[in-house]
Amino acid sequence: MSILAYAQKAAREPLEAVVLDDPAPPAGYDVDVEIAHCSVCHSDVHLLDGDWGDVARPLVPGHEIVGRVVSAGESAGLAEGTWVGIGWQAGSCGACGACLSGREQLCTGGKVRTCVGRPGGFATRVRADARFCFALPPEIDRATVAPLLCAGLTVFSPLERLGVGRGKRVGVVGVGGLGHLAIRFARAMGADVIGFDPDLGKRDLARDLGASDLVDPRGPLPQGALDLLLVTTHAPLVWDDWMRALDLEGTACVVGVAAGKLEVSFDPLMDEQKSITGSVIGSPATMRRMLAFAAAHGIAPIVERMPLAEVNEAIARVRQGKARMRVVLDA
Ligand SMILES: [Zn+2]
Ligand SMILES: [Zn+2]
Repeated sequence: MSILAYAQKAAREPLEAVVLDDPAPPAGYDVDVEIAHCSVCHSDVHLLDGDWGDVARPLVPGHEIVGRVVSAGESAGLAEGTWVGIGWQAGSCGACGACLSGREQLCTGGKVRTCVGRPGGFATRVRADARFCFALPPEIDRATVAPLLCAGLTVFSPLERLGVGRGKRVGVVGVGGLGHLAIRFARAMGADVIGFDPDLGKRDLARDLGASDLVDPRGPLPQGALDLLLVTTHAPLVWDDWMRALDLEGTACVVGVAAGKLEVSFDPLMDEQKSITGSVIGSPATMRRMLAFAAAHGIAPIVERMPLAEVNEAIARVRQGKARMRVVLDA
């Protein structure tokens, strides 16, 4: 059976349909997954546009993959027919301190990415390591779950690590692909959530997602009002202003990649013991907890769906910020 994939031959060029060679049957931990859905993440656009330097081309992007195991190696432990999700991380060394302590996303011995140096999910089939494939809870809607696998994990992991729960006050900067999921997760964890987005047309949406309000970040920010600020936007921020929105000992966590450097005064860090941290995706264990939490609380991404053949139109919508909130490609 041949594999249809959409590949880019040079940076900023459109993707073209190609037929990939059928690989030898999977061995060891490898599985072949027949793809049903794959959503478009901003990281795919960065790879396509050459923002993160040279990557091997032809490039087949896509790392929010939902599909069914059709063939499995002897160590994979996933039965054929199992519905799985696959995210940004496709493997780790398994031997470094990070891996041995269950923080594989921080692996120092050679991280493997689902669509870097190997074909990703804008295709009809993908080969993956079963240790980074995640069985989907049966109550989850497979057609819309794909964005949880990168965007969902990216926001759930720091919310959990930084102790979000009942009574905590969380600000989410940017109500888009990441931010809308952050609001849903934080609210379901029991927090009071405020969204920040210059598009106040999203106010009803933010409230539907569980935020108590949506604030235009270009206007005055609430002062000392937040325990945690989760920054999902790519826009540069005036950090001293945002630090004032935090209460004493509050934390700001960055999950969106902004250009340039972060500049902040010493005062809030010392006199008010505030901190700034960052977060990158999450471990396999966190992925499993995130999927179970989403299933238990009925948390689903808001998506537009398009056929895989319209992948270039889908990428253009994401690049232009027009997607509401994420585009899922149906293979
Ligand atoms: Zn991603
Ligand atoms: Zn490692």
